[in-house]
Amino acid sequence: MTALIAGNWKMNGLTETAAQIVGPLRRAADDLACEVLVCPPATLIASVAQMLAGSRVMVGGQDCHAKPSGAHTGDLSAPMLRDAGATWVIVGHSERRADHAETDAMVRAKAEAAAAAGLRAIVCVGETEAERLAGRETEVVGRQLAGSLPDDFAGRPAAGVVAYEPVWAIGTGRNATEADVGAVHAFIRAELLRRFGDAGAKIRILYGGSVRPANAAALLAVPEVGGALVGGASLKAEDFLAIAKAAPTR
Ligand code: PEP
Repeated sequence: MTALIAGNWKMNGLTETAAQIVGPLRRAADDLACEVLVCPPATLIASVAQMLAGSRVMVGGQDCHAKPSGAHTGDLSAPMLRDAGATWVIVGHSERRADHAETDAMVRAKAEAAAAAGLRAIVCVGETEAERLAGRETEVVGRQLAGSLPDDFAGRPAAGVVAYEPVWAIGTGRNATEADVGAVHAFIRAELLRRFGDAGAKIRILYGGSVRPANAAALLAVPEVGGALVGGASLKAEDFLAIAKAAPTR
């Protein structure tokens, strides 16, 4: 399975900085063995998609509304992201779950809306530090998977992916150990197989949480890690490319 290295720029980036990131990505993309995706803020999706037109680097949104249109001031729908040039969208990121009180049911509705608009979804799950300290990580992740993944998630021609992002590792510089990552990814794979049968074997499971050039090779080599969702390090082309180059071909 080809690895996917996805960059989540969060609320960072202006036109000038976007060009500084995507220019080097565009130039290097043909030599990468992995798939590469950038998810800039919504204001930049159309211009970044134009800058990357004809290249192997894909563009995604960071969130979408569950409805295709309507009276939802300030929100963006999946068809709007598609129209701007996105082919992917992140849903259920822990920052959205925390800052906007997004529930599993809301995340599932967003993933369904993404599929209806022809977008591939990155569905994020992950436990908080308190939940991990209480030994509840698989219980929490299992509940999030059950509630957030649409029933046809594995059956689509252009299926989405799951991203395991322990909340305590996001933006903190504290990445999970390879053993921690391996255990939760094995659990997620077992849940995907249980729910979706053989098709569950094909869903990539990304790891996210302080992935950096220095730890990328080790984390990406863990069994069942099918790529990375990268926050901070995706804002520097050099670092993001170093992570992409560390992705093994499986
Ligand atoms: C993220 O935002 O999804 C993320 C993993 O951030 P960071 O790499 O900065 O921890």
